[in-house]
Amino acid sequence: MRYLITGGAGFIGSALVRHITKNLNNEVLNVDSLTYAGNLDSLASIENQPNYSFNKINICNFDVLRDAIHSFKPNYIMHLAAESHVDRSIDSPESFIQTNLIGTYNLLEATRFYLDSIPKDQQEIFRFHHISTDEVYGDLFGTTALFTEETPYSPSSPYSASKAGSDHLVRAWGRTFKIPFIVTNCSNNYGPFHFPEKLIPHPILNALHGKQIPVYGKGDQIRDWLYVEDHAKALDLVIQNGQVGETYNIGGYNEKKNIEVVEKICIILDELVAIKPKNIKSYKELISFVSDRPGHDKRYAIDSSKITSELGWMPNETFDTGLLKTVKWYLSNSDWWERVLNGKYRLDRIGEIK
Ligand code: NAD
Repeated sequence: MRYLITGGAGFIGSALVRHITKNLNNEVLNVDSLTYAGNLDSLASIENQPNYSFNKINICNFDVLRDAIHSFKPNYIMHLAAESHVDRSIDSPESFIQTNLIGTYNLLEATRFYLDSIPKDQQEIFRFHHISTDEVYGDLFGTTALFTEETPYSPSSPYSASKAGSDHLVRAWGRTFKIPFIVTNCSNNYGPFHFPEKLIPHPILNALHGKQIPVYGKGDQIRDWLYVEDHAKALDLVIQNGQVGETYNIGGYNEKKNIEVVEKICIILDELVAIKPKNIKSYKELISFVSDRPGHDKRYAIDSSKITSELGWMPNETFDTGLLKTVKWYLSNSDWWERVLNGKYRLDRIGEIK
């Protein structure tokens, strides 16, 4: 199959590209504009494979995007390109509106014209898979409920509002213009090649540098963590076997408070790293509570029963196995994250100590 993947140089996109290109019968075109979050180093293991190619394109540039789709002739489009960091969306929402809304609109329009130009048998195979987030559903604070595919949308941040808008565009283009779409809404991912500003890599790298580990508020926000390679496998399963017009929620069956996550990271590092910075006895000594993010949702939790019962998907990793793998990956891949840190980003993005 021919997969056009947008955002394939990002965290989840690169895991997906690495996964799909393992099957040499598949061909992948990675369309990515390489923002601060895009990193071709994450694709070094497959960049020379004949079934992989990269095209640096901003999805806000309609003409270039349309031409790339027409010349590659994909069977599947998997749309991951997005501005994805909530804190950045609070500081500066504009790029979120551009990429997540205008970019998705462009991709839908380019897909519509492409579909009109290909034979009927190719149209029947074609799928447009929009990769979205559980954050569109809002906050589950104070309940034991889980997000289902029927939960009404109630986004809290500029990021989640722009993703919610993009989900609505996809469904509208599906209904009005008959684009055969599938939407997936996923919980927080973690794993190798995660940009250092996000929770999980951020505390790992701050700890290794002997810097304080900032935790928002009391650290009692709950997230449902999914190992990124389990997500990539779920996405491939959905595009191959999912029902057109359907939504599938994807979660890790791993609800954890942020403070629990940070403490677990410290415990793993205490075991794995003998020489600690600044004469500390435990990395937990570096934890520092900082003022909370405005509008911070307290709890997200996913009901993944639909994708499990209809498509047979289950994550392979528990939180403990996935977190251990992740910490070990950061310990043995300092060349990857040192190059990121040597660029513009300097471990000072989220939860700055005040
Ligand atoms: P990321 O920020 O790591 O990667 C985004 C990628 O999109 C980058 O490679 C970037 O260069 C590219 N990009 C950004 N703007 C672009 C543009 N205008 N044109 C072309 N490329 C552009 O994000 P991620 O964490 O890999 O998330 C991927 C998708 O999954 C996003 O749509 C996000 O909303 C969704 N999602 C993420 C999570 C998570 O926990 N990370 C959870 C659920 C859903």
